[in-house]
Amino acid sequence: MYQALYRKYRPLTFEDVVGQEHIVKTLRAQIGAGSISHAYLFCGTRGTGKTTCAKILARAVNCAMPHEGDPCNECPQCLGILNESTMDVVEIDAATNTGVGDVRELREELIYAPASGKYRVYIIDEVHMLSTAAFNALLKTLEEPPSHVIFVLATTEIHKIPATILSRCQRFDFKRLSPELIAGRLEYVAEQEGFKLERDAALLLARLADGALRDGLSLLDRCRDGNEPVTLQRVEQIVGVMGGEQLMGAVRMAWNRDAAGLLRFYRDARERYAGPAQLFGDLCALLRDLLICSVTEEPEKLIEGDAKELKEKIALSRELPTACIVRMMRTLQDGIYELGRTAEKSLSAEMTLISLCREELGEDIASLSARIARLERGIPPMAAAASAPAAEPKKEAAPAPSQAPKAKEPAAEISQGEECPFWEPMKECLPDMGRANLLGFLLDIKPSLAGDRLILSSEQSICIEFLNKPENKAALQEAASRAAGRGILVELRQSEPAMAEDDPMNELLNL
Ligand SMILES: [Zn+2]
Repeated sequence: MYQALYRKYRPLTFEDVVGQEHIVKTLRAQIGAGSISHAYLFCGTRGTGKTTCAKILARAVNCAMPHEGDPCNECPQCLGILNESTMDVVEIDAATNTGVGDVRELREELIYAPASGKYRVYIIDEVHMLSTAAFNALLKTLEEPPSHVIFVLATTEIHKIPATILSRCQRFDFKRLSPELIAGRLEYVAEQEGFKLERDAALLLARLADGALRDGLSLLDRCRDGNEPVTLQRVEQIVGVMGGEQLMGAVRMAWNRDAAGLLRFYRDARERYAGPAQLFGDLCALLRDLLICSVTEEPEKLIEGDAKELKEKIALSRELPTACIVRMMRTLQDGIYELGRTAEKSLSAEMTLISLCREELGEDIASLSARIARLERGIPPMAAAASAPAAEPKKEAAPAPSQAPKAKEPAAEISQGEECPFWEPMKECLPDMGRANLLGFLLDIKPSLAGDRLILSSEQSICIEFLNKPENKAALQEAASRAAGRGILVELRQSEPAMAEDDPMNELLNL
């Protein structure tokens, strides 16, 4: 019969317990010295070895031939506990036995001496689930436990345990295991089982296990295919997630404004993830790492994972301005929030991915900072769009703006006004005037000249509002007048959003 890996490789001695050295050392010393506590509290997240250690403890205190605090696992007492034939070790799941009656029943039982060993050990799992009355009943027992009884209380939620209980137990905090530790253990298990587990596959499994070795082993079980090697591709395929390389590819696509590529990525990812929220969560976790790479000197101290992946993350973080990373994280987090509120999950996810590529679709400060950061890197924010609108009114490129034939047609002037010949020189004046901060807000502005009036229009209300502030408008007028060599009046207007050629919706439709 096939035995699950996490059962088969459950440690039988303290010696074999992975990653909880601080606890194991103390327990072995206590058992070796015979100074055992009558109530232990094991706390920590799931899958970190609480129950395993409780069971080893139960055997060690009853073992006929203990070795340095470890059970021999061969004597009749050890074997009796291992094959669950003895009554001396009782496991209670508080999640299903929460009532005061259950605890009273337990108390009545306590007077009986152990059947074969020295101690009766009660392991109460999920002890935080007990009712208040049950806790009170338990407390009475913990106050004066019979000398042959040991309690091991285990919980994932220490804050739900009453202080009165806490004060009567010796507490041990189980740590979440590092990915390296879990990966190493998974590789060991694979080797024992006679199949190969590739290093990057082990690391991905370890990352997914999120600190719980048991989960890591269960995942390995799912990915195992007889004695075939377990590769990264296989883990990605079976467990249903994207590897770091693909996720980094997606972030790069967002930075390169490749909406179509990102939507294709999403289509592949959809088959592997339970839902877009998980995918966005993974992307956010990657962006968090990139952010750490870009703002700290020694990211390896804060980022889990192997050296190769870290190197790639550092390289990618150098390509992206920090403001852009922050904006992507915000966009994804908003996307996750939206996913929780809409029935149209796929549509919502696609819109999030498109706005990931397009800072101009966001009107918040993070988007503007990202656009400015892009500008600072010298990468055109609207690579495709910048050339398109300029093609239309090229016909009459009048370099002498003295006459303004269309100035009297206010409705048409925004779209049909003359090109502003001094637009670029005007922008160059701003840094000299100490107003380089305005440049980012001019990215999307369409200038048109009507006589001595320079009309600046944009779909982005936040840009228009900002530029329309008196001190900003005055600076624009001064720069324009300097560049034109005559007095120019600046007007700001918000234009209606147009279905531009560059509209990301078109890319969506073209897929
Ligand atoms: Zn033994």
